[in-house]
Amino acid sequence: MSVWAILVAAGRGERLGTDQPKAFAKLGELPLLAEPLRRLDESEWVDAVVLVAPPGWEEPAILLAEELGCAKVRSCVPGGATRAESVRAGLAEVDDAAAVVLVHDAARPLLSDEVVERVIAPLAEGWDGVVPGLPLPDTVKRVGVDGGIVETIDRDGLWVVQTPQAFPADTLRRAVAGGGEATDCAGLVEAQGGRVKVVPGDPRLLKVTTAGDLARVAGWLT
Ligand code: C5P
Repeated sequence: MSVWAILVAAGRGERLGTDQPKAFAKLGELPLLAEPLRRLDESEWVDAVVLVAPPGWEEPAILLAEELGCAKVRSCVPGGATRAESVRAGLAEVDDAAAVVLVHDAARPLLSDEVVERVIAPLAEGWDGVVPGLPLPDTVKRVGVDGGIVETIDRDGLWVVQTPQAFPADTLRRAVAGGGEATDCAGLVEAQGGRVKVVPGDPRLLKVTTAGDLARVAGWLT
């Protein structure tokens, strides 16, 4: 069974406040992208990697992969205007013979092989997708534009969902061909009626959005 990973790194990361795209913001000495790329490349579960770079940044992304000695990177393509478009661009590079596709946000650098195993294993039970998640610890409110609370949402059964997300390759291809938009791949598969399982995620899979997140992840690395 061959597992292909798509690493989506084409986001602009405006909330980070740096000049470069988020994937090239510095995490320690190296660009943020280096950490998830190296971890995917070293994963015993992953056979091949497709890198989706910010448009115009394909060459620095390839040079970084070479500098890190990544042996599994098969292709590097420019991303699109939305995450779903970037996934679509990456999926076009995945080999027809791939059995499983794993999609991971470069903005979540601290990927562990335990989580990769946790999302791949249940696919053998016939799920259309498997995603890592964490139950919501806080009370959730819907808030209006004036800052007033509109409603309190029962948090029972509410989870925040992370990446890597794993899918049978054909299922993801069909979902992506549907042309919809969603903030994660599971959303595209769900929209086609697919059954997606949630397994325990990892608090360290925090998505880097602000400079504070970057500092937190850097602290966990040392
Ligand atoms: O924007 P957000 O933080 O939700 O992005 C999640 C991941 O998707 C990031 O790794 C980002 O680089 C990627 N992305 C992308 N192409 C876009 C938007 C986001 O590859 N157009």
